[in-house]
Amino acid sequence: MDARITSIVIMKIDLKDLVQEFGNNLKLDHDLKKKNWFNIGGKTKAFYKADSLKELIKFLKTIQNQEKIFVLGAGSNTLISDKQFNGVVIKLTSNFNNISLLKSEIIIAGSAVTDKSLSEFAMENSLGGFEFLSCIPGSIGGGIKMNAGCFNREFKDILISIQALNKSGQVITIPSKDINFKYRDSGLSDDLIFLSASFKGFKKDKDIIKKEIQLLKEKKEQAQPTRIKTSGSTFKNPIDQSDKKVWELIRESVPLEKSFGDACISEKHCNFFVNKGNAKFEDMKKLINFVSDSVFKKTGVKLEKEIKILE
Ligand SMILES: Cc1cc2nc3c(=O)[nH]c(=O)nc-3n(C[C@H](O)[C@H](O)[C@H](O)COP(=O)(O)OP(=O)(O)OC[C@H]3O[C@@H](n4cnc5c(N)ncnc54)[C@H](O)[C@@H]3O)c2cc1C
Repeated sequence: MDARITSIVIMKIDLKDLVQEFGNNLKLDHDLKKKNWFNIGGKTKAFYKADSLKELIKFLKTIQNQEKIFVLGAGSNTLISDKQFNGVVIKLTSNFNNISLLKSEIIIAGSAVTDKSLSEFAMENSLGGFEFLSCIPGSIGGGIKMNAGCFNREFKDILISIQALNKSGQVITIPSKDINFKYRDSGLSDDLIFLSASFKGFKKDKDIIKKEIQLLKEKKEQAQPTRIKTSGSTFKNPIDQSDKKVWELIRESVPLEKSFGDACISEKHCNFFVNKGNAKFEDMKKLINFVSDSVFKKTGVKLEKEIKILE
C-alpha cells in the first residue's frame, strides 16, 4: 500500500519581519493612551493603520489569523489595560472616511466617519432620522458594534446593511435584518472589521433638522458631562431586571464621592466614570467592580458593562 504522509508546515509570523513591508503603517509596541477618551492604557504589541481596503486585506492575509485583532474606532467606548495587548490593534483611516448620497434617501458612509459628520451630512441633504447621532462622539464602526443610541433612537433604526471584512480577508455584506440587534449590542462577531454601512433617512426640512439637533445637544449637555476623560455610560440600563435606570440604582447604592486613585464618578451623571488626571487601568477597574458590587448588594441587580475592555 502506498501510504503517503502529507505534512503542512505553518510558518510562525513574526510581526517584526513585517515592518519593512508595511512601513509607517505598522508600529510595534505602540502607545494607546492617547487613542481613547479615558486617556488610560498601555501599549499594544502592534498597531496597524489601514489606509485602504487593499492594504488591509494584504495585511490580514499576511498575518494569517495568527494574531489577536482589535479594531479601534474613536475610542469613546473602550477602556484599555496598562499591560501590553498581545495582538494587533487596527485603526481605519482616510479611505474609510468617505460619505456620499447613494440615492435620494440613502447614505453610504465609511466606518471611520464620525457619527457627528453623518448627522451633519444628512442635515445638509435634508434627510431626517440622523439627528440623534449628533450627540454620540463615536465612529460609524463603533456605533454599529454597540448599536449606539440616545433619545429613543438607535443605529438599528437607520441601518440598511453593513459591509465587513472577515478574518480571511473576504468582503461580505450583512443586511440589517440579519443582525441580532439588542439594546447597546449588535451581536456581531469580534472577528469582523466593518468597512462601511448604508443608512436610510426620510425627506425633512433642513431648518427643522438643525433646530432639533440643537435641542438634543442642549438636552444632552444638561444631563451628561462633556469635555472630560470618560467613556460615557459605564453600565447598560438593566432593562430585564429593573424598571429603574442604572443611574438611579447607582445613586441609591453607592457613595458617589468614592474614588480609586484618579478614577471617580462624575458629579453630573453617576453612570459616567471619569479619569480626573492620571488614573490607571486598575483604578478604573476597581471603581467599576466597586459600583457593580455595591448595586448588587443593595438591589440584587447584576449590572452589565456597556464599555468594552481591551486587555
Ligand atoms: C461623552 C460621551 C458620551 C456618550 N454618549 C453616548 C450615547 O448617548 N449613546 C451611546 O450609545 N453611546 C454613547 N457613548 C459611548 C460611545 O460614544 C459609543 O458607544 C460609540 O458608538 C463608540 O464608538 P467608537 O468609534 O468610539 O468605538 P470604540 O470605543 O473605538 O470601540 C467600541 C467597540 O466597537 C468596535 N469597533 C469600532 N470600530 C469598528 C470597526 N470598524 N469594525 C469592527 N468593530 C469596530 C471595537 O472593537 C469595540 O468593540 C458616549 C461616550 C462618551 C465619551
